[in-house]
Amino acid sequence: MAPRPKVMEKLTRDDASKLDIVIVGAGLGGLGAAIALLLAGHCVHILEGASQIGEVGAGIQVLPNSSRVLISWGMEQALESYATKPKQANMLGWKGNYISHMDFHKYEQECGTPFWDFHRANLHKCLLDRAVELGAVLEVNARVVDVVTAVDERTADVVMQNGTRRTADLVVGADGINSKCREILLGKEDPPILTGDLAYRLLLKTEDMMKDPQLRGFVEDPQVNYWMGPDAHAVNYVLRGGELFNMVLLVPDDMPAGASTLAGNVEEMRALYKDWDPRIPKLLNLCQSVDKWRLCIRPTLEPSWSHPSGAFTTLGDAVHATLPYLASGAGMSLEDGHVLGLCLSRLTSKAPAEKKKALAIYEECRRSRTERIVQRGNVQQHLYHVHDGPKQRERDELLRAFGAREND
Ligand code: FAD
Repeated sequence: MAPRPKVMEKLTRDDASKLDIVIVGAGLGGLGAAIALLLAGHCVHILEGASQIGEVGAGIQVLPNSSRVLISWGMEQALESYATKPKQANMLGWKGNYISHMDFHKYEQECGTPFWDFHRANLHKCLLDRAVELGAVLEVNARVVDVVTAVDERTADVVMQNGTRRTADLVVGADGINSKCREILLGKEDPPILTGDLAYRLLLKTEDMMKDPQLRGFVEDPQVNYWMGPDAHAVNYVLRGGELFNMVLLVPDDMPAGASTLAGNVEEMRALYKDWDPRIPKLLNLCQSVDKWRLCIRPTLEPSWSHPSGAFTTLGDAVHATLPYLASGAGMSLEDGHVLGLCLSRLTSKAPAEKKKALAIYEECRRSRTERIVQRGNVQQHLYHVHDGPKQRERDELLRAFGAREND
């Protein structure tokens, strides 16, 4: 069994090596980076473009690699009160036939850290509270439109929409999939790439499900369920210890050009799943309204995640947004912040050469792992969505063999 992670102590450092860092974006990645950089002894100011801090969307799965990071940041106690710990993940055919499962308790034994499911708002609030507790300063209504690096390479200025500027020793672009920072670094427009899929995301009240003997089991015995069918799949799991039920339905993208989120039509959504495992139409009948989200990706940022000056870098979805089919995008953002914090914890001065070296090591540690996740997300898209026939049977055999090996 892997050891439990140690809770990190906040480093103290003198002014000669203490960086003034501006983080662009207060999403899960930006807040995680704030915690890691504050623990490394630096000062952090976060600029958030939205007028309110928070997370949209519903549930989020946190795998043991990411819970390890969160626990090392001293957040276990705060998070445990909101976490649901599912027993296992079940892989099912679209008619509800069992194919295989992954035993999460066994993974926890091996990894030393748990598999958690959260409502996004709870995870986000816990990260925000920890960042503020460690000294982060947060500014909302602060949309960044430019980052200008100084000729002497020592600093960079962030320029906000209202014209104000802020100078930093390091700017960290954590502004998500539609990242302005990525475009600034590249010096050109760079829209995300369409994947051909969209997600319906919905939350159900479990009290409605408890009235139906066929649905009650989902609440009483928390597990993650994946149904895989032709051109579509569905995922569900319980949140907040049984209070809410999260469903994500992944289907072909029919959204108009340029849209990223739209109110969905419940009847249209139900029609797509009417012939699936009868429990899915039953669950969808409990849904009153739904949003749909276009799913895009970002292949890794080339040639580098950072500006040559060493005064501007990037992380999270801004660099490597992936399909959510491995439940790993936020986990990758949190890992990025953790590694960035570790690299910048070694600084002995603010000299550009030291920062450049730290950022080069950060990128070297993160690039291939995150590239692999983006590629694997695309592979999952094909595996989950194959039509019934020889390919589906081959996939199911592989899943059975994987389950037998892993759960042994
Ligand atoms: P974001 O969360 O997008 O945060 C970016 C922030 O920057 C926002 O607050 C935004 O307002 C702000 N911002 C943007 N532009 C500017 C600007 N110019 N100036 C100032 N601020 C700005 N991941 C998992 O690990 N597990 C899961 O189970 C999971 N499920 C998912 C399900 C779905 C349907 C989807 C779509 C994604 C899922 N993900 C999951 C992925 C995860 O949501 C993302 O990878 C993660 O939220 C990325 O975090 P981020 O901080 O990089 O970006």
